[in-house]
Amino acid sequence: MDFYGHVIDGEEAASLSGATFSSTDPHTRRPWAEAALGDGADADRAVSAARRAFDHGHWPRMGTAERGRILHRLADLIEEHAEDIALADTQDMGKPITQSQGNDVPRTAANFRFFADHARLSTSESYPMDTGHHAYTRFDPAGVVAAIAPWNFPMMLESWKVAPALAWGNTVVLKPAEDTPVSATLMARLALEAGMPPGVFNVLHGYGPDSAGQALTEHPAVDRITFTGESGTGRVIATAGARHLTPVSLELGGKGANIVFADADLAGAVEWSIRAVFTNSGQVCLAGSRLYVQREVYDEFLTRFAAAADALVVGDPRDPAVQIGPLASAEHHAKVAGYVDTIAEQGGTLRTGGLGDGWTIRPTVITGMDHTARHAREEIFGPVVVVIPFATEAEAIELANDTPYGLNAMLFTENLHRAHRVAAVLRAGTVWVNCFFVRDLRAPFGGVGDSGIGREGGTFSREFFTEPKAVVMQIDPAADRDRPRSSRGRSAR
Ligand code: NAD
Repeated sequence: MDFYGHVIDGEEAASLSGATFSSTDPHTRRPWAEAALGDGADADRAVSAARRAFDHGHWPRMGTAERGRILHRLADLIEEHAEDIALADTQDMGKPITQSQGNDVPRTAANFRFFADHARLSTSESYPMDTGHHAYTRFDPAGVVAAIAPWNFPMMLESWKVAPALAWGNTVVLKPAEDTPVSATLMARLALEAGMPPGVFNVLHGYGPDSAGQALTEHPAVDRITFTGESGTGRVIATAGARHLTPVSLELGGKGANIVFADADLAGAVEWSIRAVFTNSGQVCLAGSRLYVQREVYDEFLTRFAAAADALVVGDPRDPAVQIGPLASAEHHAKVAGYVDTIAEQGGTLRTGGLGDGWTIRPTVITGMDHTARHAREEIFGPVVVVIPFATEAEAIELANDTPYGLNAMLFTENLHRAHRVAAVLRAGTVWVNCFFVRDLRAPFGGVGDSGIGREGGTFSREFFTEPKAVVMQIDPAADRDRPRSSRGRSAR
């Protein structure tokens, strides 16, 4: 088995304790890679390296163009190694290879390119004051960023944190999820090859509680914590951040509502709704796993939707024909299987799907279940959807907003007025109209309620990963002198 170490201060390293853990391939259900298992001492080593690189290194002081060249080179290398990276994520967590290769790797490279350019082209506001002064904003790097990632889109979600943090001149310690350690080490190796100075981008492997993750979030030398994962973990991390008043960005769970109105293009709605719930075998925070369909088209939609779900190819995720792979781990499979086993108990009917071979769950469509049932309220994080009819627009809005989550919602309609009207009142960080999963990296991304705190993307990432600073400069001493003594230096605004 190949070994994947921490990457600290430009070196690939074993843990100080020598401990390791293995990653299991969910298709073969056998270990396929080994990684260093970090603890508090390793976290301290990684944070210290990042601290030194920030306080004394060249990276935060480099121009954005020079940093951008290195980040673009990293994006090129990620594309050159697309096959290995895609296979690593697929073997680590069972994602169909067409998705890791067709979506995750290109989007990872795009994230590095976008944030490199965004930092370089970003403008800062300036305020000419009528007191003879001029105020302007600087966006100075925040310092050492601790980035903690989940396993469902390993490298892609890691890059969504690492790319803006680095582009704005921070140094980073990334802790990937324990189920998916491999691509993080690959990314750090490529960053060094791209010319990133030692200590700027560090990778620390290990678990969360009482392990590397917890030690990282509690470290006093960390200046920002960016976390993506479960809402419960988010609460723990927010508490850890509070101890040192470290700003925390939390991208958490979801239970996306997907509303299909009777005036929708039904073929399009079926196609997008299939993607919305079964992409990545349903292991997507944005999954449209509550599907509300207007009564007039309910039967027709359901017939087409269930047939399309049934036609999805389940199997070995390395086979390019396969659309649904195994779930990421035995533990996660047991959790999702528990929902499948209790469909009738919660008043539902299994329209199609159910348990598959090994750790797979076949695309599962549930009907007849009330909106208040557990399956319709809790994040299942697997290929399982509850389909519920509704009568009016007002009812659809009420059902969609009746959730502690608020990451995203989808709606399908051909009525322009309705599209804007409903999008405006849905309580969610993102609303997709007649589509799903389409992202503009300049737009805000994040959730309300239990789905998180803060937004990332474009200037929203800049706000988080920098310390905006106001500089006020005297430009015209005469203008200040001419003003009454009592108001000198005070803004006229
Ligand atoms: P998780 O919360 O179990 O783990 C996420 C990461 O946090 C892992 O690296 C883990 O080791 C670490 N961790 C766990 N406990 C910790 C602690 N006490 N201190 C520090 N680190 C700790 O989540 P997961 O199972 O890996 O991912 C699935 C969840 O992530 C789902 O709820 C999903 O909705 C959510 N998610 C959200 C988004 C988003 O953008 N909002 C994107 C993807 C996934």
